Amino acid sequence: KSGFVSIIGRPNVGKSTLLNKISGEKIAIMSDKPQTTRNTIKAIVTGEDYQIVFIDTPGIHKPKTKLGNYMVDVAVGSLNEVDVVLFLVEAHHLKPGPGDLYIIEQLKKVKTPVFLIINKIDLISKPDLLNVIDEYKDTYEYKEIIPISATSDACEDLIIDQLKKNL
Ligand code: GDP
Ligand code: MG
Repeated sequence: KSGFVSIIGRPNVGKSTLLNKISGEKIAIMSDKPQTTRNTIKAIVTGEDYQIVFIDTPGIHKPKTKLGNYMVDVAVGSLNEVDVVLFLVEAHHLKPGPGDLYIIEQLKKVKTPVFLIINKIDLISKPDLLNVIDEYKDTYEYKEIIPISATSDACEDLIIDQLKKNL
C-alpha cells in the first residue's frame, strides 16, 4: 500500500514532533527545504507492506492580503491531492480556537478523509480529554479521532495502522 499524507494544524501543535516520531527508524528520506506555496516532500516512510509520503503543506491561516488569500487557496487545494489529511490540534486548549476553526472551515472544501489528531494529551486529565473530543466531534466529519501525545506515546504504529486502512 502506498499513498500521500498531509499534516496540517496551527503553529506549535506538534506537527514536526509527530512527523519525527512516525519517521523514526523507518525513515528513508527527510527534507527540510524552506516553505513555498508548493508542496514539498518532508519524509518517505517505508514499512514491510506500505510506503507513505508525507507532504509539507504551507500553513493555513486567515489571510490578510490578496497574496495570502491565494496561498491559502493553493494550500487547501493541495489537500485534495493527498489520500489522508492529519489535522493536529492541542488537547490542553480544551476546545477549538479561532485558528483551528479557520482550518476546519477550509477543510469543508476538501474531499480527502481527515483524521483529527488531538495531541498533547499528557497535559490534561481523562475527563478533560472526553470533553475535548466532544467539543470537536461535531465540527467536521472526521474519519478518525485519535488522541496522542507525540512526545511521550508510542503513537506512530497506531497512526500508521489507521493510515494504511485509507490507502
Ligand atoms: P509544529 O509547529 O506544529 O511543528 O510544532 P512542534 O512539533 O515544533 O512542537 C511545538 C512544541 O510542542 C515543542 O516544544 C514540542 O516539544 C511540544 N510538543 C509536541 N508534542 C507534544 C506533546 O504531545 N506533549 C507536550 N507536552 N508537548 C508537545
Ligand atoms: Mg514544525
